[in-house]
Amino acid sequence: MSLSESELITRFFRSCGAQRRDVALGIGDDAALLECAPGMQLVATTDTLVAGVHFPESTPPAALGHRALAVNLSDLAAMGARPAWALLALTMPSAEERWLEEFAAGFGTLARAHDVALAGGDTTRGPLTITVALLGQVPRGRALTRAGGRAADLLYVSGSPGDAAAGLAIVQGRLSAPPEAAPYLRERFLLPTPRVALGERLAGLARACMDVSDGLLGDAGKLAAASGVGVEIAFEALPVSPPLVAALGENAARELALTGGDDYELIFAVDPARAAQLERALPAQEWHYRQIGVLRGAPGARVTRAGTVMEFSHSGYRHFA
Ligand code: ADP
Ligand code: MG
Repeated sequence: MSLSESELITRFFRSCGAQRRDVALGIGDDAALLECAPGMQLVATTDTLVAGVHFPESTPPAALGHRALAVNLSDLAAMGARPAWALLALTMPSAEERWLEEFAAGFGTLARAHDVALAGGDTTRGPLTITVALLGQVPRGRALTRAGGRAADLLYVSGSPGDAAAGLAIVQGRLSAPPEAAPYLRERFLLPTPRVALGERLAGLARACMDVSDGLLGDAGKLAAASGVGVEIAFEALPVSPPLVAALGENAARELALTGGDDYELIFAVDPARAAQLERALPAQEWHYRQIGVLRGAPGARVTRAGTVMEFSHSGYRHFA
């Protein structure tokens, strides 16, 4: 590497994230020292992105920096936590200054937007692999989990699932979308929006919450199973974006909303007795979420359409393979 490891860290990462007063000691020593606020629980998550596995090799570095943090922010959002500190373990074949600059810009812009400090990390040579660990805080006892749902709870989803899966297919050349739809869909894959503010506001309102990364139907099934119940989703209720419908038509758009991955939206279960309170506290028009189904006593995940149960295979990619 032309740059030494310490030059690289100083130049690109030392002031990459937000400056926070609760970072007693940040980048530069053997480990970071962080001040946890009293009455709060520490919430911790990590996610790894491997080139060619979790993102196409052609992905712009700024999008990678954004994404590596966004997927972790989404996990904390799902817990109802407020993010605070990140660690970045970066493995790359060589230290390309241009690449590092763009990567750090993508990471840093999102970090500062969420007041996340980059408190440390590791830098090694090898096949491009990005691991971010993210720490946040939640008032003791208020964290949202997958396990709190009960039969008859209303199930909601934020945003418009399916967009990111279509965006990935466009990036990979498996789907061609009309010119007015393609840029939006591509961006929904490249620059996912973690629903951090929504997750934090849902703590105390929702009974269970989870972020959707592997496909809405499968993930809703996981939330239901963790809660010891099942789930029923109404096909017609699935929110699909106009660009996704423009690219695929209504029917395939809804199928992709159920099975496509990389959405980083939240699904959450709410006691029906609190639905009105939810709508008052977080107007759906403003916060962009919609009820898509209910939890039910019978285990498993099923989708109904015009009152009948749909056969559903997890093959969202098939229609444009
Ligand atoms: P050590 O030899 O103790 O592992 P390093 O030389 O790896 O120390 O790291 C020096 C300092 O730089 C540490 O504070 C570490 O947390 C930080 N650091 C290393 N790589 C990164 C990175 N990619 N992003 C942020 N901080 C980093
Ligand atoms: Mg190290």
